[in-house]
This record gives sequence, C-alpha cells and structure tokens, in this order.
Amino acid sequence: QAKADGRNTLRFFDPEMQATVIERATLETALRYAIEDQQFLVHYQPQFNEQGDIIGAELLLRWKHPERGMVRPDEFIPLAEETGLILQVGRWVLETACKQLKVWADQPYFQNLNLAVNVSQCQFREDDFTDQVRQILEETGASPKRLKLELTESLLIDDIECSINKMHSLRALGVEFSLDDFGTGYSSLSYLTQLPLEQLKIDRSFISTLPDSHNDAVVVQTIITMAQSLKLSVIAEGVENEAQKQFLEQHGCTNYQGYLFSKPITVTEFEAFVATHIPLHPHQN
Ligand code: C2E
Ligand code: MG
Ligand code: MG
Ligand code: MG
Repeated sequence: QAKADGRNTLRFFDPEMQATVIERATLETALRYAIEDQQFLVHYQPQFNEQGDIIGAELLLRWKHPERGMVRPDEFIPLAEETGLILQVGRWVLETACKQLKVWADQPYFQNLNLAVNVSQCQFREDDFTDQVRQILEETGASPKRLKLELTESLLIDDIECSINKMHSLRALGVEFSLDDFGTGYSSLSYLTQLPLEQLKIDRSFISTLPDSHNDAVVVQTIITMAQSLKLSVIAEGVENEAQKQFLEQHGCTNYQGYLFSKPITVTEFEAFVATHIPLHPHQN
C-alpha cells in the first residue's frame, strides 16, 4: 500500500534529526553543568620568535567531561555560542589569562610573555565588552600590553564600523589584537588598514600544504608581504614540520606556533617548558 510506508504521515522529525536534537539538548545541559562544576580548563600553546625564544602562548579552551574525557572546542564552542554560554566561559578564559599574567609579572623570563585569548563573536558584540576587559584588568592587576585578543575576520566584518570603534576603545586600554585564521575570511585591504591591529595570524590550512602547494605558498607569501607593508607582525599557526618552518623563515615570517615546537600544554608544563628554554646569553627585548 502506498500509504503504509508512512510517506504521507506528518512527522516533525526524521530519526536522524531527532537524534541530533536530543544530542544537542544533552550537550547543552552538560555544558551548563560544566560551568557550575568547573570542568573547563585552558591549555597553553607556546609561541616563538625568529630567534627561537618563547614570546608567549595562546590559551586554548578544554572541557574535561567526566565521562567523555577531553572535549575539543570545535565540538562545543558552536553550541556555547548559540546558547550564550560562551559569555561566561569566555570571561573565565580572559580572567584566567590576566591572573596568570599577574603571577608572572615579577618573575624574570616570565614577565615578558604575552598571552593570547580567543574572543567569540557573542563576547565581542556585547555592548559592555570593553568595560568587561577593563574591569578584569583592574581586578587582576595584569599589564594590558601583555594581553592579546584574537579576533577573526568574520567576527569583525559583521558590523565593521562598530568593530573598528570597539577595537579602538580596547586598544586605548593597552591591549593588542591578532587577526586569527587570516586568509580564510573576507580579506580586503580597504578595511584591514582601518583596524588597530598588531598582528596577522596565518591560518593553519595554508601552512599544512607548504611548501608543495603552489597556491598556498603564494597566499602565505602575500600575507607576509601584506603584514610587512602594514607594519604588522605575522605569526604562522599549525607549523608541524621543518620544511614548513623553513619556507616561512625564507619568506620573512617572524613568529611561529605549532606542533613542531609544542602542542598545547597545561600551565605547569608551560612554565617548565619556558624554564628549559631560558637563553644562555639573554638579549635585550
Ligand atoms: P584557533 O584559535 O585557530 O586555534 C588553533 C587550533 O589549532 C587549536 O585547536 C590548536 O590546538 C590547533 N593547533 C595548533 N598547532 C597545531 C598544529 O601544528 N597542527 C594541527 N593540526 N593543529 C594545531 P583547538 O585547541 O582544538 O581549538 C580550535 C578552535 O576553537 C580555535 O581555533 C578557536 O577558534 C576555538 N577556541 C579555542 N579556545 C577558545 C576560547 O577560549 N574561546 C573561544 N571563543 N574560542 C576558542
Ligand atoms: Mg586562535
Ligand atoms: Mg587560528
Ligand atoms: Mg581556527
């Protein structure tokens, strides 16, 4: 019978969709509980200059779920953004960074380290985001010039005028900006010159195919040249092997981050890592 196959039956969900909805609801409940239960932590991925010195780290959020184990940000950040939970979590990451900067502030070799924090669109769009950052800086006593905020092109382009104003108000506090995942968005020189940026961060997708992919090699060279012309620093993310590093070095890249140097690690591991990398003949910086 034609009708027996259920084709004409009104259904709200197909089973697959229903599974997704349930999974989503479960994840959302777990995410809310995770905040209360302090299941979040951050890992630090070291960043290096051309001399091989550690210049700082990027904070990368981790969720230590009691049953699922370590959940990666790609699996929960989109939902955290949709539900607005990212506001609390993002604020916590910022506080963590600033508290850490304060701890290091009077320790030789640690006091010059910069910490980079990823900022989500929801966070950045908050009317009082600048005030939040100011407040966190004041409460922790961290030096603003050690704090770097990572923004993405897509986040900025949404309302470019508003973004520029907000960046200027944050810049006035002393914090710096890195443009994350650069090259994947709407790269346009016309707005790039209007942003008070300090750094371009070349997206990992262009690095992973170096040096074999001619197209990506051209993109990377162009980004580095662009950064130089705009007097911005440039950092490559996701550097995994020597060949990639060599290519980048030869084309004028000055800062590096990636598994070749170190995976993201706990703060304790990071401190030990820095301690073993203290130069024997320190130079001025
Ligand atoms: P992202 O900011 O572009 O971070 C770089 C990602 O590349 C990280 O993934 C890092 O672990 C990974 N990575 C670093 N070096 C290598 C490498 O050599 N090879 C490969 N294959 N991967 C490398 P992760 O930690 O899974 O984070 C993914 C994304 O989640 C981040 O991309 C960022 O957009 C977001 N995220 C992480 N922490 C936060 C946070 O605190 N707040 C917000 N809003 N987003 C965050
Ligand atoms: Mg980042
Ligand atoms: Mg990135
Ligand atoms: Mg990314």
